[in-house]
Amino acid sequence: MKYRDKVKTAKRIVIKVGTSTLTYENGNLNLKRIEKIAQTISDLVNNDKEVILVTSGAVGVGKNKLNYSEKPKTPQEKQACASVGQVILMNIYSKLFGEYGYSVGQILLTKDVLENEKRKLNVINTFETLLKNKIIPIVNENDSVSIEEIENISRFGDNDNLASVVSVIVGADLLVILSDIDGFYDKNPKINFDAKLISEVLEITKELESFAGGSSTDLGTGGMQTKIQAGKIATNNGCDMILANGENPSIILDILDGKNIGTLFVSK
Ligand code: GLU
Repeated sequence: MKYRDKVKTAKRIVIKVGTSTLTYENGNLNLKRIEKIAQTISDLVNNDKEVILVTSGAVGVGKNKLNYSEKPKTPQEKQACASVGQVILMNIYSKLFGEYGYSVGQILLTKDVLENEKRKLNVINTFETLLKNKIIPIVNENDSVSIEEIENISRFGDNDNLASVVSVIVGADLLVILSDIDGFYDKNPKINFDAKLISEVLEITKELESFAGGSSTDLGTGGMQTKIQAGKIATNNGCDMILANGENPSIILDILDGKNIGTLFVSK
């Protein structure tokens, strides 16, 4: 079976959407896109797929609500932004998924939770129960408690990593990462006109890793390096990963039709 054909058969899918997809450059919510995300995921669930959404955007959205003119610098400010922004995000997801007849459940994670076998099992049970009841689990890092200074709490730091770990613990077939770039390139396409998109990655080699540059946006934390890290975690654990542009989120339906979109990191 061709690799893209296998993608068509994916049943359990984790979709990660970054801050740059969810918000305008000024930090306000891009409602048209969020609406499309809710519609697309609802359609997948209508078609008997199991979908988990990993969302960023809490810090970015909260920053605007708190009228900070720039990215919060101190952990305290960041945590306050996350706390406010997370509610705004969930409120809008709840409303938009509700229009298609679906309820959402919030799961906020920190790394230490998944490092503890018992708590990890609790989280897995929650995912399973939500999915069984056709409720859309919406995941983010618990940013308002996850600064490193707090004892016993360790951070994922970025949602690419978080999404790949979630994919592994729930045994997902496919992780789709939507970003502000069409896929993984052999050079940074923003500064190199001859950069070529790599359609399929069978192995994450040192050379491939060297193609990854810095962070993609000001408000998000991810960049190509975190995508590569996520790709390693996913593919080493039997989960395919696709990196694609979230400009038009219905692209997810084309991806699941097996179309040659974005970069497919093929699982081992
Ligand atoms: N958890 C952060 C937020 O919701 C985003 C982290 C990331 O963009 O990777 O703002």
